[in-house]
Amino acid sequence: MSNAHIPFNFPHLTGGEIINIEKAHQLGRLAGDGFFTKECHQWMKRQFDLPGALLTHSCTAALEMMAILADLEPGDEVIMPSYTFVSTANAFVLRGAIPVFVDVRPDTLNIDETLIQKAISSKTKAIVPVHYAGIACEMDVINQIAKDHHLLVLEDAAQGVMSTYKGRSLGALGHLGAYSFHETKNIICGEGGALTINDDRFLERAEIIREKGTNRSKFFRGDVDKYSWVDVGSSYLPGEISAAFLLAQLDQAEQITDKRLMIWGHYHEALQELEESHHIIRPTVPEGCEHNAHMYYLLVKDLGVRTALIEYLRERGIMAVFHYVPLHTSEAGKRFSKASEKLSVTENIADRLIRLPLYCDLSQEQIQKIITSIKQFFVKKA
Ligand SMILES: *Cc1c(COP(=O)(O)O)cnc(C)c1O
Repeated sequence: MSNAHIPFNFPHLTGGEIINIEKAHQLGRLAGDGFFTKECHQWMKRQFDLPGALLTHSCTAALEMMAILADLEPGDEVIMPSYTFVSTANAFVLRGAIPVFVDVRPDTLNIDETLIQKAISSKTKAIVPVHYAGIACEMDVINQIAKDHHLLVLEDAAQGVMSTYKGRSLGALGHLGAYSFHETKNIICGEGGALTINDDRFLERAEIIREKGTNRSKFFRGDVDKYSWVDVGSSYLPGEISAAFLLAQLDQAEQITDKRLMIWGHYHEALQELEESHHIIRPTVPEGCEHNAHMYYLLVKDLGVRTALIEYLRERGIMAVFHYVPLHTSEAGKRFSKASEKLSVTENIADRLIRLPLYCDLSQEQIQKIITSIKQFFVKKA
């Protein structure tokens, strides 16, 4: 067996990226909102059945736009899981709001929808479901709770591009959503993201916030005869080179997703026996969820086993990694946010989760080597 290094991630190229970038240059416009950005917007609106989609320079930027659009006042509360990336919380903290953490479900590691109701106070303004590993949260229940309490639903769909819940795309289930095209995600352009708009009342203001608080987009469409400062905002749009790169990836989004699903399925089948022998727990995909194979993770017995397994794989050239440090246990998390109650599942799974390499260019041989190494590790332990 070869000892060649297997990285945790490797950015996939479709081949169309460079061609598009050259074309962007020939078109003579490299700033934002040119031909390729508009093509990406159309593609997303069509593919995900959205009234609006705006490219941003990251998912973090899209989350920040979302938090501005939510019109939060200092002290307002936003319900979210603690088991997530820092930007989910930071975007709202920047507006003076307080993230209120709710525990996750032990099966999907998504926010536990049955615990949301208890976390709602008179200050609550929004629920932020994070679709972990591209597998949907229980959105029917979450949307109903939000409706009953007049709350916004703001999806962190960073990992959920091309996933669906009961036939509808992630990012198109709440009022607003955020996608990531960071190189560690499925569809990439280095650093990039998008704000998805699923409620018409946000369309106009979203454009303004993204264009430094000006009505420049309206001006370029010829809707107004000059543009000026009309609202708060920042520069959230990517340049055309990023958009050109991204469009080549979007054009191949189905092929990319199929390839990843094949690898995911290969892991899932091969590791079933380790679940049956109680060494690991594999991911759960609830009924009604079509996922995008963003991630393949395992839950092992405890932190000791995880550390040993990561080390065992590293010695064989395989880079497996753990994931989030729960935000409520972090330094800034303690300062800026609060937990609704004891987050037992979050604390338990955070120490036990290990992610395996998953990217389009992973070869059959490499997948086999990873699977064999994991099996050997547990045979030795037994
Ligand atoms: C990757 C990720 C982000 C941040 O995405 P960027 O594009 O890097 O800003 C936010 N939330 C979640 C859940 C993510 O996985």
